[in-house]
Amino acid sequence: MVSIPIPSRQLFIDGEWRESVNRKRIPIINPATEEAIGDIPAASAEDVDIAVEAARKAFFRNGGKDWSSATGAHRAKYLRAIAAKITERKLELAKLESLDSGKPLEEAAWDMDDVAGCFEYYADIAEALDSKQKSPISLPMETFTCHTYKEPIGVVGLITPWNYPLLMATWKVAPALAAGCTAVLKPSEIASVTCLELADVCREVGLPPGVLNVLTGYGPEAGAPLASHPHVDKIAFTGSSATGTKIMTAAAQLVKPVTLELGGKSPIVVFEDVDLDLAAEWALFGCFWTNGQICSATSRLIVHESIAEAFLEKLVKWCENIKISEPLEDGCRLGPVISDGQYEKVMKFISTAKEEGATILSGGARPQHLKKGYFVKPTIISNVKTSMQIWREEVFGPVLCVKTFSTEEEAIELANDTHYGLAAAVLSRDLERCERMTKAFQVGIVWVNCSQPCFTQAPWGGKKRSGFGRELGEGGIDNYLSVKQVTQYISSDPW
Ligand code: NAD
Repeated sequence: MVSIPIPSRQLFIDGEWRESVNRKRIPIINPATEEAIGDIPAASAEDVDIAVEAARKAFFRNGGKDWSSATGAHRAKYLRAIAAKITERKLELAKLESLDSGKPLEEAAWDMDDVAGCFEYYADIAEALDSKQKSPISLPMETFTCHTYKEPIGVVGLITPWNYPLLMATWKVAPALAAGCTAVLKPSEIASVTCLELADVCREVGLPPGVLNVLTGYGPEAGAPLASHPHVDKIAFTGSSATGTKIMTAAAQLVKPVTLELGGKSPIVVFEDVDLDLAAEWALFGCFWTNGQICSATSRLIVHESIAEAFLEKLVKWCENIKISEPLEDGCRLGPVISDGQYEKVMKFISTAKEEGATILSGGARPQHLKKGYFVKPTIISNVKTSMQIWREEVFGPVLCVKTFSTEEEAIELANDTHYGLAAAVLSRDLERCERMTKAFQVGIVWVNCSQPCFTQAPWGGKKRSGFGRELGEGGIDNYLSVKQVTQYISSDPW
């Protein structure tokens, strides 16, 4: 598979490429080779000011007629044009995503389909908004009428992580633009390449200047000033719970609304009545897809004691046959983790688990055949206690930890034994049992007899320290709309 050059880009502000004020750049490191393959601009607070003012100008330009108060159908045309361009450039974008993030090419290509699908979906929702914008409310007094009116919230700051660089950005950009907001996107400094290409796509389709601005840069230097900017009306954030706390604190100073999609430590409960082969596939996919760097990774396996030995034997055997290679190589199933920092972090989790008395059943080291790159073998850890760090904290790497259970009540207790609440999976032939488990899980997303499928049509988000608010689905647009109540006195002669 052939590598491709990384385009050299500037910040995207007001429909143009602009050098950052400080002219600093951040190297792009290919996690499979540890080599610098390009660089991106490092925005600072001054660039944030310029981008936010461009977004504000675009929001109000021509009395809003160009964007914020245009019809949804008008905005939908741009969203569909973006989707079409993404589809046209799919292979190129997927390769860029692979090189930048270490994701196997096949997975990056699925992401690009999902990106295009998400823009299409919110184009439909934008059109539907035209008929739903004004809703009558019936009142108990005839002398008054009332209706609600949905309007875009304003300029939104969108801060996103590195694990699905373009897809996580799209989950915010598509509904925000559909609603009529204008936006400043700050992707992760660790993987920004495809978000800059999204800017290029917007330029190519003629999106009005300032409607989407893309600022690459570090969190404290570019993300923090965006979160606390007085002219940003809302912040939508996906990332770690630690950064989410900082964003919420900054936003609270200005009573700015936030939606937070944060970390997870999701359980997968496997009952004794499953087909072991199928269950093993879901358990491995649920934890090792995207190298375990998924917020919803089902990284705590809770398996019935009667099948545990046979099940784990199967998992270990299959783990050892997963193809680990450079992400652009044919048949790659597992690439490197994103960075040297993440590699060190994952290895530290594994060594701490060992020190605390857990057993490494499989993996726990870098693959012998790869001398460069941030590769970690898929790792399975047993003899885990609920007090151990490996059970309690999000690893964000290819590490599955295992506990057994004997009763349904015990499985529920173990599943909910976390301060996170993003997702949970249950595998069993007994659908009534699955229903009971579904109700008992303290999470925002439940998978029954599967793990990880994600559809643009279905709401996504968590409880507890996994955050609040729901992205995707029809309601996803409401994150970017404000409801105005209009009550009118209709006496024959009000004056
Ligand atoms: P992170 O919190 O380190 O960074 C996320 C973004 O915040 C980046 O753009 C970063 O530059 C920015 N940032 C950092 N410090 C900031 C500050 N002080 N102010 C403003 N912005 C700041 O997260 P990450 O390592 O990029 O991503 C991994 C995390 O994201 C994991 O915890 C994962 O679970 C979570 N995640 C959650 C979901 C979900 O849907 N719930 C989806 C994907 C990832």
